[in-house]
Amino acid sequence: MATTFLTKQTIGVKQMEPALTPHLGRPTLPNKPKLGADKTRTKKREIPEGLWIKCPACESTIFDKELAANLKVCPKCQHHFPIGARERIHSLVETCTFQELDAEMTSVDVLKFASYKSKLERDRKASTLMDAVVTGICKIGSHRVALGVMDFSFMGGSMGSVVGEKLTRLIERGTEGNWPIILISTSGGARMQEGMFSLMQMVKTAAALAYHARARLPYISMLTNNSYGGVMASYAALGDLILAEPKAMIGFAGPRVIKDTTHAELPPGFQTAEFLLDHGLIDAIVPRKEMKERLVKYLDFLAAGKTA
Ligand SMILES: [Zn+2]
Repeated sequence: MATTFLTKQTIGVKQMEPALTPHLGRPTLPNKPKLGADKTRTKKREIPEGLWIKCPACESTIFDKELAANLKVCPKCQHHFPIGARERIHSLVETCTFQELDAEMTSVDVLKFASYKSKLERDRKASTLMDAVVTGICKIGSHRVALGVMDFSFMGGSMGSVVGEKLTRLIERGTEGNWPIILISTSGGARMQEGMFSLMQMVKTAAALAYHARARLPYISMLTNNSYGGVMASYAALGDLILAEPKAMIGFAGPRVIKDTTHAELPPGFQTAEFLLDHGLIDAIVPRKEMKERLVKYLDFLAAGKTA
């Protein structure tokens, strides 16, 4: 500090300022803009969000309306994007025939699981669904059918007590009405936030299907991308006819878990719909755009012995 005063006093005001200022703590350019602070130039020039979607399989960009009109299937490479339950129902059933069941049924946070309530609330707002499945009675072709469709966007399509209860009631309605059942699955498995209550849904749905089978009524299970865990270990694997969408990933535990547990090299294409078709778990792979036509054909065939 002493040097500072000495310099100022001895050199004088008219003299050239010393090259090194003693107050090193102060920045020399206080208003210098920070790198990346001006985001307007780089970000605003991007394509508006939501208009174009990049296909993860072929990397081509697709106009979102074109994708929606194509039932969320890439028009270039036929990659199947996830599709919401309501969109799927709309693509399959005859117009205005879908009568939804138990639409207001909601989960209870029995175990007081951390952040479960807020996650339910978040997904209800984002998806406009009350839980991960939509069920109802509808017509497909000339057939009255009990239809249940899962939605992966609601907590990963996990099966909690609401999913299990809604499906069980649907299956029981199907049995009472003498109707075929079609369940379209997409799920990460049982909902861990409901612990044992979610695991109990496996046996409950399977038991209801057993009564339906005893009445000699057909059940078609449709597996779509990501059908895993408790759902695959119960109703999804019990179809009289098991269909899958192309390249859907299907299994109980994921490939990484299996690889780490068994320490074995997994065969190529392991757990894909195509692999499982070759190995006999699946009866047919049906592209989404052909689904309705194929379901009508299967229902015609399976209900041929029944009087309408
Ligand atoms: Zn593509």
